[in-house]
Amino acid sequence: MQTQNTQHRHTMPDIPTLSCDVAIIGAGIAGLWTAHRLKQAGFTVVLVEPYAIGAGQTICSQGIIHGGLKYALTGTLSSASESIADMPNIWRACLAGEGVLDLSAAKVLSEAQYLWSTGSLKANVFNFFASKCLKSRVKKVKKDAFPAALQHPAFKGNVYQLNEPVLDIASVLQALATPLQSAILQVDGQKGYQVHYATLASNAPYIDHLSLSSQGRQVRLTANHYVFTAGQGNAQLAEQTAFTSMQKRPLQMVTCTFPAYVQPPSLYGHCIDDGATPRMTVTTHPMPSNPQQVTWYLGGKLAEEGVLRSMDAQILVARETVGNLLPWIDLSGTHWRTICVNRAEPLQPSGQKPDTAHVELQGNICLAWPTKLALSPRMADKILSHLQPLKITGKHSDTRVFQDTLAKLNWPTPRVANLPWESE
Ligand code: FAD
Repeated sequence: MQTQNTQHRHTMPDIPTLSCDVAIIGAGIAGLWTAHRLKQAGFTVVLVEPYAIGAGQTICSQGIIHGGLKYALTGTLSSASESIADMPNIWRACLAGEGVLDLSAAKVLSEAQYLWSTGSLKANVFNFFASKCLKSRVKKVKKDAFPAALQHPAFKGNVYQLNEPVLDIASVLQALATPLQSAILQVDGQKGYQVHYATLASNAPYIDHLSLSSQGRQVRLTANHYVFTAGQGNAQLAEQTAFTSMQKRPLQMVTCTFPAYVQPPSLYGHCIDDGATPRMTVTTHPMPSNPQQVTWYLGGKLAEEGVLRSMDAQILVARETVGNLLPWIDLSGTHWRTICVNRAEPLQPSGQKPDTAHVELQGNICLAWPTKLALSPRMADKILSHLQPLKITGKHSDTRVFQDTLAKLNWPTPRVANLPWESE
């Protein structure tokens, strides 16, 4: 991506122009959710994607629609857990085709996730779960209803069921991308688009237009407003502005793929010990090439602390952790690999986890990080509440002209990114 300052609007006769109300840069969960919400509100919207849909954090996420309970492990209901509490219901309504967006084509891997302890729970956590405010959201599970992976006589801990679904994230991305189709423009990597800034007397950052290129073709994209939802790419996009800086929280996740002839039990949830971060978070995913074969995707403290280890050392620690926590699971013939990926978020004092979705508006640019997949609906609503009062719908482009131009343009569209365990 390059940036340029444009002093005067000039027309480029050979290059077609596409005009819309809002151009969104980055088609991860944040960009896609925002595009749908703006479209519903009458905005004409274009998404620009240099790689693949959801490449970056979304496709690497564990797909857990947190309601905040994981964040309450310290025994207090923090502002993080409160701001996220509605999210499972908002997503569930969408999955049922009755919510703000239609996610009925997306797959749910598990209706709930579990917290399990290695021994007895620390008293403060136990009391907290038993407290009135959480009773409806956390259920102590009886032995005979334990998830299959924990139904072993050697397992001595407690299990709690959290009313939080786990989603197949590739199917979520596909369900959101399909209706947007030709409005998601693929460009040739970061070199495939240039941001042209204009200089305003007010010094507010103001984008004049974007120049896009793909496979030897070019188009000039003009919009009334521009939304940056490029995840880690936001830092570079916002370089020329005074937006909040970005922090990266690196993770070294681990995948454990079982051989095709083994059907390991599914497991979704967090193993907790005495810390505020789960010792290990496990989600179970069918391999796209052979749905009979499954991968356990491992995160939590294992992934946070794992950034200091080499890949081989991280695999050794992961094998050992699974072996210690779940010694009855047969790991013979399993294939292990690691995935290094950063969480991209607004800078926090002392690098801590942000609690809420972050949205900032300056000039004609909006910068956004959902900070969690689960919080994308909240982030998109914040963007909508910034843009709706500006009454910009139709100002820059008539809907019919926009649709005709888009159809005539017939620009290449990106595919959904590969799941991290899909590519060898
Ligand atoms: P991204 O998903 O990173 O998408 C950015 C998009 O912009 C991509 O399409 C990318 O190709 C494009 N892009 C990148 N660079 C540029 C650039 N320079 N210019 C233009 N476009 C660019 N949250 C949960 O709620 N539940 C979970 O279980 C969960 N698990 C996680 C596990 C891991 C390992 C990680 C890393 C995060 C997890 N999260 C989870 C957090 C969640 O994944 C992110 O908050 C969310 O996906 C961010 O979405 P996004 O669209 O902002 O960014």
